[in-house]
Amino acid sequence: MKCAGDIDTRDVEELYINIDPIQAGGRLTPEALKAVIAYGDGYSVCDNCRKPFRLDYIQKPPIADFHAELAEWLGMDTARVVPGARRGFQAVAGTYVEKGDPVLLTALSHYTEFVAIEQSGGVVREIPKDQRNHITAENTAEKIEEVTREFHKPPRLIFVEHVDYQYGHIHDIRGIARVARQYDIPVLLNGAYSVGIMEVNGKSLGVDFVVGSGHKSMASPAPSGVLATTGERAGEVFRTTGARGDVTGRTFGIKEVEMMGCTLMGVTLMGMMASFPVVKERVLHWDREVAHSRIIAAALESIEGTTILSDMPRDHSLTRVNTIGSFDRVAQTHKKRGFFFANELKKRGITGVIPGSTRVWKYNTYGLTEAQVRHVATSFIEIAGENGIPVR
Ligand SMILES: *Cc1c(COP(=O)(O)O)cnc(C)c1O
Repeated sequence: MKCAGDIDTRDVEELYINIDPIQAGGRLTPEALKAVIAYGDGYSVCDNCRKPFRLDYIQKPPIADFHAELAEWLGMDTARVVPGARRGFQAVAGTYVEKGDPVLLTALSHYTEFVAIEQSGGVVREIPKDQRNHITAENTAEKIEEVTREFHKPPRLIFVEHVDYQYGHIHDIRGIARVARQYDIPVLLNGAYSVGIMEVNGKSLGVDFVVGSGHKSMASPAPSGVLATTGERAGEVFRTTGARGDVTGRTFGIKEVEMMGCTLMGVTLMGMMASFPVVKERVLHWDREVAHSRIIAAALESIEGTTILSDMPRDHSLTRVNTIGSFDRVAQTHKKRGFFFANELKKRGITGVIPGSTRVWKYNTYGLTEAQVRHVATSFIEIAGENGIPVR
């Protein structure tokens, strides 16, 4: 079946158990799917936009209420929707960073954080990870001192991942924020792998900004996300325009500079809003997701030559695994080479592992049912067994 021309319809989520590391938390709810159809037209949320003409003031559909609920849910004072977590990083960097200012990221930061700092003219320095692949308060303090010596001023901002994309490790945000506070450096929490799947409270973590990704972890269409701030920072990041046309004398009221006025004007926002009640409920059941992640990690670890590179026992659904001593050994002599592994998974209705990769790879068990978890765990063990890899 085609959407049009050469564009196939997509049926991955209908036909397969998808353990793709970046897709699991963004899978739409049935409610969001309905909103996608109803609000697919451009500017579809603008039917009832009235003075002062800004997205977050619209009452019908209840966009204004959604903004207030988002802020409260994240334990922050103000929230805006943004086209992806990266646009949240960009807004914060654009507000605070001047050319040549040092900004701290981490050894586990995502490329979008680097690009946001680059765009603002800042200079990135990374907080090193420790031997356990964690970002610690101690390394943060040391890096602040080092950067202050190098630049003769402290870092302008610290961006830190609540959960990083490489290992799925949960980092000591409270400790890091406590250190940052001693130096008066604002902290941005990158919640791309936490907001929408785990409970997140920015105030109790002690951060100034919380950024989330709608399409990564909030069961929302792309590109969508959230930027929430403390009251103190809101006036800075969400400052309104002072622009004035020299010929026409026009001014533009309360449009916010970093938000380019309005952000998500249709299907993305309505998808986020439609999924929000389910998302609020699902974060309360994170323990179930952790239990599922542990079942699959245990199955993989029972396969000789396989090591889980993420923290064990698992405390997140995103996991990095090394199968150089198991599935990659099979790949050396298999007629399909490394592709045998993804093929065998696909035969069993499982997708999301990059075809050809049998060395170090990642998977995400978020959102699977009990039965699906058992099937995935059994499938890894079966594939090992059928290819002569001992299973303990
Ligand atoms: C996916 C990801 C991002 C980017 O999120 P977008 O919403 O696509 O901009 C940023 N940081 C981390 C850690 C991520 O995993």
